Amino acid sequence: MIRMNFRAPKNVRYECQRCARCCGDTSHRGRNILLLPSEVEQISSHTGLRPLSFASPASNGVYRYRMKKRSGKCVFLEGKACRIYDIRPVICRFYPFSVKRYNGTYMFEVSRDCPGIGLGNLVPPEHFERMVKKASEALQARN
Ligand code: SF4
Repeated sequence: MIRMNFRAPKNVRYECQRCARCCGDTSHRGRNILLLPSEVEQISSHTGLRPLSFASPASNGVYRYRMKKRSGKCVFLEGKACRIYDIRPVICRFYPFSVKRYNGTYMFEVSRDCPGIGLGNLVPPEHFERMVKKASEALQARN
């Protein structure tokens, strides 16, 4: 397993409102769903779709693809439901959190764009540990 030092945010409340706002563009920002090669392969084998039918090539660190959108929404969004929820990309699993690397430590950032932030229970440290584990597995699968 790839070791990742990380710092999780404290005292953040979050409860998903199932609004699907994170699955597409809004009036003031575009949603960029970057994909690892392993994620594209997994989605392709799960759906039977050719990679370039749902993803465009991209070059952004370890990410090599970008999810295509239709009318500003992820191509896999149906109503407010994700058609590939069980195998959704790490970026989608992380939302409304994202990770940036500073001096070798991964820092979680919170998207204030998500209406679920500030609602529900405090997010426990284990939640972030699980996300880091998932990201580490996805990164390992690309080799
Ligand atoms: S924007 Fe936030 S509340 Fe809405 S579906 Fe995404 S994670 Fe859930």
